Amino acid sequence: MVIGVLALQGAFIEHENMLHTLGVSCIELRNAEDLKKKYDGIILPGGESTVQRKLLYGLGMHSTLQQQIQNGIPVLATCAGMILLASQIEQQDTPCFATIPMTVRRNAYGRQLGSFHTVSTVKHVGTVPMTFIRAPYVTKAEPSVELLASVDDKIVGVQYGRQLAFAFHPELDESTRIHQYFMKLIEERQSQQPV
Ligand code: GLN
Repeated sequence: MVIGVLALQGAFIEHENMLHTLGVSCIELRNAEDLKKKYDGIILPGGESTVQRKLLYGLGMHSTLQQQIQNGIPVLATCAGMILLASQIEQQDTPCFATIPMTVRRNAYGRQLGSFHTVSTVKHVGTVPMTFIRAPYVTKAEPSVELLASVDDKIVGVQYGRQLAFAFHPELDESTRIHQYFMKLIEERQSQQPV
């Protein structure tokens, strides 16, 4: 199994470290050429979604990645990555991949609560530490979107098909459970595909 980690901006190294801990190979996706390589899942890391979006278009990576996601490649998106997947972003006209029918609010916790840590449960995964850094949350989701996690009545984790999106940063804590669940989705897809 090989994971493609979007490595344009933000906290991609931390995801790579997590994958190394789990003994999973990864490649960095830095330009359109990289998208021709073989990988079985995609990680969209945290960072600054507006910058990431501009780079994705500027480097000619947007439509290929969007197509791969629409074709069902498993995706693990954290924080800014969650914003990239949302079909609507509050007070912003332009979504990025728009592959999950939901609305997100950026920097949703305000300044004082910009960063915080908690422990809570994620459906299919169990109890995990959650580090939020100027995080978004989901304000609206279509019924077809499965809600995986909420903190203080705010939706902070969802699954839509094989796309996982979390408002927090599992790559910054020691628990590897979320990454393991993502790997399970990849294995399931691989076992369904004809050899
Ligand atoms: N505030 C960032 C954004 O709006 C997300 C923060 C993060 O990824 N840690 O894109």
